[in-house]
Amino acid sequence: MEEKTIQIAGSITVDELANALGLSVTSLIGELFKNGIVATINQRLDYETASIIIDELGLKNVKLERKNTATKTSDIHRELSDKAVGRPPVVAVMGHVDHGKTTLLDTLLHKKTVEAEAGGITQHISAYQLKHGDRIITFLDTPGHEAFAAIRQHGAMLTDIVVIVVAADDGVKPQTVEAINFAKTANAKIIVAINKIDREGADIDRTKADLSNHGLQPEEWGGDITMVPVSAKLGTNLDQLLDMILLTADIEELKADVDIPAEGLVIESHMETGKGSVVNLLITGGELKTGEFIVAGSTYGKVRTMLDWRGKPKGKATPSTPVTITGFKELPNFGDRFIEVKDEKTARKMSLLNAQAIANESASANVTSSDLLRMMNVADNSKIFNVIIKGDVLGSVTSVVDSLKMIDTHGEITLNIVSTGVGDINENDVYMAAGGNTVIYGFNVSVPINISKMAARDNVPIRTYKVIYELLDDAKHEMENLLDAEIIEEDKGEMKVLGVFRTEKTSIIGGGEVLKGDVKPAYLARVVRDKEYIGEVEVTSVQKEKMDVKELVAGETGGLALKTKQRIDLKIGDRLKFFTRETKKRTL
Ligand code: GDP
Repeated sequence: MEEKTIQIAGSITVDELANALGLSVTSLIGELFKNGIVATINQRLDYETASIIIDELGLKNVKLERKNTATKTSDIHRELSDKAVGRPPVVAVMGHVDHGKTTLLDTLLHKKTVEAEAGGITQHISAYQLKHGDRIITFLDTPGHEAFAAIRQHGAMLTDIVVIVVAADDGVKPQTVEAINFAKTANAKIIVAINKIDREGADIDRTKADLSNHGLQPEEWGGDITMVPVSAKLGTNLDQLLDMILLTADIEELKADVDIPAEGLVIESHMETGKGSVVNLLITGGELKTGEFIVAGSTYGKVRTMLDWRGKPKGKATPSTPVTITGFKELPNFGDRFIEVKDEKTARKMSLLNAQAIANESASANVTSSDLLRMMNVADNSKIFNVIIKGDVLGSVTSVVDSLKMIDTHGEITLNIVSTGVGDINENDVYMAAGGNTVIYGFNVSVPINISKMAARDNVPIRTYKVIYELLDDAKHEMENLLDAEIIEEDKGEMKVLGVFRTEKTSIIGGGEVLKGDVKPAYLARVVRDKEYIGEVEVTSVQKEKMDVKELVAGETGGLALKTKQRIDLKIGDRLKFFTRETKKRTL
């Protein structure tokens, strides 16, 4: 059979897909209709929907491929000119919970920032810079791996190097694997910090072996991954780790153009009273100065104030530098790309164009796979998980939302995000959740006493978390509770009915010969007469020679007391096919 590959850049129209499949448009529309979608010839289908439909059509020789949409405004990669200059590496620290990421970043921060004030930084910082020798390294701090995944979803890569922290006394754990996968898909270089080597149970070689089993071969074993044994707590070998980061950066020849309009990414944004929008940016090209106009998605602004990560005024920011600015008219989204434009008029026009493009995109790709799956499987209300998400800053809300959407429910549960917002959980959230079977999740926010009282009265669950994984675990657990349980039946044996002694509305006493297997109290049985299913009964007791026994086995004859849901007239010659049934909760 000839293989056929269809490339989909974002979405494909019904017309294009029909052409590519060699089908008539009407038959494709017909197939969509069967799946509950009333589509027109120009309707756009997303990748997932197209693949579901191709599966439904049984077209096994057709392969769908996602085509990169390199023209998206959010795409960050641009060709460098020969005037590009070196820039600091952008590093993310990832790893399993409790393996020491926070400790590593804290120790580095204290060790490497000259100013004593570093320890006094209490506000949440999303990125900072350290000096090692005369060079600078930018570290990103994020709510979790999901945040990176979210940035990736928004179409940009911003990490050059991922430092994966693995505790030497614990080895590779699920989030370690996640971090490895993330770094690989993001095309980032990996450096492993084997942490907690001061601990008694630390075993560096075993940890290396564990890592090699997960595709990371240490350099000293002939592989290509630098692994540095460290103690984040005691500060052991951290200089060596920073040396390795810089060495990796040198090999990568990280560069950026500076004589282009400034550009970069929004890495955090929130509102502050008196200041308006406070936005953290990471510069990826050009130089940003106060007074310049920038556009991000559908919003724009004039850089009113610009601070470095320590909160000190900064006049000019160069590539790989994180800064905090004020001046955006509205909050841009986490992961949005920003660019500098020449004046306010251009800024306004571009933000409007972006707003239109965003609106068109969401209007045109109006059949998404989740709509389709919803229509196919989960018309049932009990399969909808309603949530309200509140977070301290827009970045965390976006991360939570994107990560929730990434939980794979095999299409069985529909996630319905009732609303999202920045700030503490309030009356309005509880109103919205009340009566709607909705969970309110708060990430790094608090719940005022009067609000918890109100929620308790209205039976609205409010759950607050400071660790994104814990929030996701809870949501996953909630979704698992909505899944239909798995039913496991096991055949046990068969009896031929030789006598029926009493038949009542919900009980039968009879007897017979066990032909195969066995029969015990609490077994269930299907009554079968001439291959026809008559009904289901439950064995309440088993007797042999008028005495209660634990079982009858093949070859034995005896009596049974059976429980039925409705009257069943058991007859001589019927077969009882015994089985057990267990229901098992399913997991995602
Ligand atoms: P995270 O969840 O990955 O951010 O882990 P944390 O940095 O919060 O560390 C978890 C625990 O491990 C804390 O109690 C730390 O004090 C401890 N810890 C982190 N690094 C080291 C280390 O190098 N040696 C020892 N002995 N303990 C460490």
